[in-house]
Parts: sequence; structure tokens; C-alpha cells
Amino acid sequence: MKTSDDYLALDKQLLWHPYTSMSHPSPHYLVESAAGCSITLSDGRTLIDGMSSWWSVVHGYNHPDMNQAIQTQLTQFSHVMFGGFTHKPAIELAEKLIAMTPNMLQRVFFSDSGSVSVEVALKMAIQYWNTQGKPTKQFFVSPKSGYHGDTFAAMSVCDPDNGMHSLFSHALIQQLFVSPPPAGFNEPINTDYLDEIRTVFEQHHDSIAGFIIEPVVQNAGGMRFYNPEYLNQLRVLCDEFDVLLIFDEIATGFGRTGKPFATDHTTICPDILCLGKALTGGYMTLAATLTNDKVALGISHDGGVFMHGPTFMGNPLACAAANASLTLLDGYDIPEKITQLETWMKNALMPCQQLEQVKDVRCLGGIGVVELKKPVDLQTIQPKFVDLGVWVRPFGKLIYLMPPYIISQEHIQLLGKAIYQVVSEEAI
Ligand SMILES: *Cc1c(COP(=O)(O)O)cnc(C)c1O
Repeated sequence: MKTSDDYLALDKQLLWHPYTSMSHPSPHYLVESAAGCSITLSDGRTLIDGMSSWWSVVHGYNHPDMNQAIQTQLTQFSHVMFGGFTHKPAIELAEKLIAMTPNMLQRVFFSDSGSVSVEVALKMAIQYWNTQGKPTKQFFVSPKSGYHGDTFAAMSVCDPDNGMHSLFSHALIQQLFVSPPPAGFNEPINTDYLDEIRTVFEQHHDSIAGFIIEPVVQNAGGMRFYNPEYLNQLRVLCDEFDVLLIFDEIATGFGRTGKPFATDHTTICPDILCLGKALTGGYMTLAATLTNDKVALGISHDGGVFMHGPTFMGNPLACAAANASLTLLDGYDIPEKITQLETWMKNALMPCQQLEQVKDVRCLGGIGVVELKKPVDLQTIQPKFVDLGVWVRPFGKLIYLMPPYIISQEHIQLLGKAIYQVVSEEAI
């Protein structure tokens, strides 16, 4: 029988992990089980989860309702092709998504992952302008510090400096970039920023299909919060210059910012909306691209069809998980629950503000961020968190929490204490 060490040795030899080296892999921990907000390792240690497994496991692990929904679907059928067939889990999920997102969004395309839902969004925009007799509109504008995924078109609209542009410069589509929206959820609007976008639109609108942005919070590109009013103004500019507005809510969707969607902090509606991550409560991989009738019927004008169709489109197990997750979400009062989480995180993280190593502490909804002055070394910092019994995975200068919504105040306090201790030991 293989021991845990045997498994870890095989892992090191055989498996890629996200953004890792094959010759100098960072440490990985063998997980035995997980329940609620606790992850148990093969050596018996238990970690409090501050990450929701990349922001997806909002109801915690091993939730009985989630497990039951997937098991029930399993006894019906686990998959059928979506070409020529349809099924209740997908139809019910589409109905729910349409009901909970802004009114104008009426049509749903399911795919397997967030990155693919972004590819789908970009293709929708290009195909739309094609049928409108504007085939030159094939490029996208996005703000710097954005993150939209790791596939090629998604990479092309990620931050051009922090992202992977330099590695793939000849292979990537050359998109247009503007500055990131000025930081601060409550900061007043700086009209210079809108002028910058206007100038890009004025010069290039003939080639611009859409503007893609993470509404209210730029996530993996820097955990930056900004004033939602920029998005209201952006909508006006997009309409003036015939540019489709695409919101990537893969990270912010399903309550993370304290409203059901980050879009709910605005008074407008995007033309296309990408959802993923927490869509299935983190139980299965699934993403969705929603759009309005203008785009959907525009693409279909004159016999046109939308040219995308993944093998596992609308996977019934994943849709069943998503339906169960949305039912659970429905049972929470999101604003109340997430505001409470925000307060707990503020209290737990604010002491870090006193530390010499820290540049800024900020919280919005279920997101708590401690921004350091210098980048951390993941290889050395990760084991320190594990030794303290918490699962926190920083990147760059950012140590942050995006815990499951069901987490207790006590666990948030323990996470905050661990972050304080680890940060206080960082070099100044
Ligand atoms: C995670 C993320 C993606 C990519 O989703 P994957 O499922 O990892 O492909 C895209 N956009 C945003 C905003 C994300 O946070």
C-alpha cells in the first residue's frame, strides 16, 4: 500500500500544479477530506479554509444538500451531449440565472470553465458586429490590472504587465488597454479616467468589439476595489461608440461583494456577463455566459449561428450542483450575511494596519485584503500558514481572505491572527 509520502513523491514526479515549476516544485499538501470550513491533510492536521478553493466553495465542503443534489442527478444520468439533447437541470439553471441577474440578460451559454466563458463572450461580441455589417470590430479594450483567465483570448485581455504577455507576445492578439479604474470603492469619480477611455474609443471604435472589465473588484490582477459609478459612465461611453460592454463576474458573482452580483452596485446592465467559480458552490466545474436579446438575436440574424459547442456543455451533474448551490444562496440574506462577514474580517485584519510591512488593509463584502509593501515568497510563507492551522494562499504583495460564506467569527479571528503573525515575521 502506498504511504502519503509515496503519493507526494509521485505527485512531484508526475503532476503539474497551477503556475509551478516541474524541476523546482513548491510544496503541496495531500488532502484527505474536507468538511464545512476545515480541510484535513493526510498527516491529520486540519486547516481553516480562508480561500474557498479559489473563491468557489461558498457553502463549505461536503455540504449534505450539495452532495445529495449531485447523487440524485447521478442516478438519472451524469451526462448527455447538449447538441440535439436538452435536460431539466440545464433549463432550470438557466431560468434561475436569468431571474437573478439584471433584466436585460435573457440568454445563457454554458461552458466548462471561467476562461472558456470569457472566450465565448469575446466570440459573441465579434460575431455580433459581423452580422451588423461591422466586421472590422474584432478587438477589445480592457483596463490594466485585470484578470480574465489563462486561455489565449482571455490572456490577451489580462493585465499586459503582470499577465503573461511577455511570454506569448507574438502569439497573443494585440488588444487595447486603458488604466485601471482609480482605486477606492468610496473615492469620488475622477473624470480624467473617463476621458482616457473616450480618447481610445474615439480613435479606435471602428475596430473595437467590446470593453471587458471585472465590475467593482479587480481580483487576481491586484485585489483592487473601485467606485461602481465608473461602470455607469462606461455604459454611456460604450453606447455612444457602439462598443459592447462585457462584465466578467467569475470572481464577484453570487454574493462575494455583498450584493448578489457586483453589477447590482451599478444602475446599468452589461451586454454580456461571464459567471463561473462559485456558480456550482465549487463542487463541479461550470461557467456561463449570459447575454441580452440584442446580441443573441443579432448573431442569429439571417440564419447565423453562434460558433461554439463544448463537449461537456451544460453537464447535468454540474447543473444539478449549481441548482443546489443557488437554492442554498436563496436561503441566505446575502447583504446581511456578507456584511457580517465584512465586519468580522475588518476587525480581524485591521490590526495588520499597524505593521511596518503593510501598505494597506481593505475589505469589501466577503473579500479581505492585506497588501504588503514587498512581494512575499510563496515557498517560505505557505508552510508558515499551514503550521498555524490555516489555509491562506497569497500572491505577489497580497495576502487575502475569500472564505466560505458559512465561516464562523471565531475562524475569521484565527485567520486574522495567523496573517498578523506571519506578516510580522516578513522582512521589512
Ligand atoms: C478565475 C477567473 C477567471 C478564469 O476562470 P477559470 O475557471 O480559472 O478558467 C476569469 N475571470 C476572473 C475574473 C476570474 O477570477
